[in-house]
Formats: sequence, structure tokens, C-alpha cells
Amino acid sequence: LGQLICVGTGIQLAGQIGSLSVSYIQLADVVFSLVPDGFTDRWLATLNDDVRSLQPYYAQAGEIKNRRDSYQQMVDAMLAEVRANKIVVCALYGHPGVFSCVSHMAIAQTRMLGFRAKMLAGVSAEACLWADLGIDPGSSGHQSYEATQFMLYQHVPDTCSHLVLWQIALAGEHTLTQFCTTNARIQILVEHLTLWYCADHEVIIYEAANLAIQTPRIEKIKLAELTDVELTTISTLLIPPSQPLRLNHKMLAKLAITETDLG
Ligand code: SAM
Repeated sequence: LGQLICVGTGIQLAGQIGSLSVSYIQLADVVFSLVPDGFTDRWLATLNDDVRSLQPYYAQAGEIKNRRDSYQQMVDAMLAEVRANKIVVCALYGHPGVFSCVSHMAIAQTRMLGFRAKMLAGVSAEACLWADLGIDPGSSGHQSYEATQFMLYQHVPDTCSHLVLWQIALAGEHTLTQFCTTNARIQILVEHLTLWYCADHEVIIYEAANLAIQTPRIEKIKLAELTDVELTTISTLLIPPSQPLRLNHKMLAKLAITETDLG
């Protein structure tokens, strides 16, 4: 019977994928891929003879196409093979289910048709971010949002914890037809963020290395300078805490502990 397995290839070529995911890629009848570069596609082709890139479903030069349509077409292509009773692997870069809807849509629709589907975790860009920046997100907690969603909805950042904004290069681009935003929209995001942070608060543009020979981009700038720097499709914005953690004294009282008990 056909089945679908969504795996993550990690961010760095060949080195951040689990051995279980590699095994599934090797035994699959067909592998559909959405990976950052040709190197990763060529590496996948060394593991399986039938690797098909999902990239052509995105708008091609001169075409205007909503990404929602692209995602559904990608899912349809995979479902056609599951229906033909094939073992289908969907190999997405990073973690297949983190800030990535294709695998969630494909799994839900595969199950609705009565076939088996599952997801294996992968190394996400955020996992690389904590490693490269030497930050333990557990030290003060963190919040993570897609930049446009952060702008369009009433999210309130906790300035005592880390704030991660994904797809910063698309901030405010709501049409899902463009692969970049405008300086004016980035400026609106900066103004929005200054409701909680000073304009000179230090923020970090982060880009994990896709290849072992590259170094990550870790660019520290002032929040207000966000409009001056180059933002790419792989840029993630980290806003470190601007305030120390504040104790919840009511909770301490309920637990009958004092500040000194915390060490
Ligand atoms: N599923 C992916 C993952 O697990 O990392 C995330 C896909 S999401 C559609 C794309 C966003 O992930 C980018 O806009 C950026 O915020 C982040 N991203 C992707 N590659 C990255 C990299 N090399 N370094 C930093 N962030 C990256």
C-alpha cells in the first residue's frame, strides 16, 4: 500500500540528516524534494534514482502565482504517487514541519485518503541559530513567529525572552505571490517593534551555512538599521531580550519560597 514519509534534510548539506531519514530516502519508490540548492538535490540523487524537485511548482520567471496554489500542486503530485501504491518520500530542507506547510498538508490529505503518512523531525534553521549564536533558548525562553503573521496579528512579544522572526525578507508581503518585500514594509515592522524595543536595541540577522565550507552570517545591527541591510530568503531575525527576567512574587508566595531559595 502507498505511504508518505516527510523527512527533513537539515540545513547543512548531507550532515544534518538523521540515518532513519536517509534509509527512507534510499528505499522510497520516489523522492520529492524541496531543498535550498542544486548540491542537495545532487546529493539526494546519489541516494535514490527517482528524485523529483518540487521547485518547478513555484512561480517561474514572469509568472504570477499564489504560493498556496503551488503548495497544493506539490501535494497533488505526491498524492498521485501514493495513490499508485508507491512509497513516497517528501524531503524538505530543515525540519519538514517547521514553518513549512507542504508536509502538514500532504500528511493530512494522505491520511484522508486512507493511506499511512508520517513525519520525521529534522534540524531546523532555528536549531542551527541557537548553536551558532551560543544561546540556550531555555535560559529565558523564546517566541517564534513568521514575520508577516507577527505584523498582521496581535502578537505581543515578551521582551524578557528571545524573539525569532522567520521569513523576515517577506515581512508584510501578504499576497503570497512575491519572494521579497519593500523597504517601506520593513520600516513599518521596525516602527511596530519599537512599541516594545528601543530603536537602538541590538538585533541579529542570522543565516546558517548551507555548505560546510561556508560560515554563517551573524550580523549584529541596531533595530532601526533593519531597513539598511540586505535581507535574503534565508535570513532569520533574532531579537534578544531587552529586559531581565522578572520574578512572579505571587507565585513565589503560593509556593512558599523566597528569592534566595532560587539560588
Ligand atoms: N522548514 C525550514 C526549517 O526547518 O528551518 C524553514 C522553512 S521557512 C519556509 C523559510 C525560513 O526559514 C526563511 O525565511 C528563514 O527565516 C528560515 N531559514 C531557512 N534557511 C535558513 C538559513 N540557512 N539560515 C537561517 N534561517 C533560515
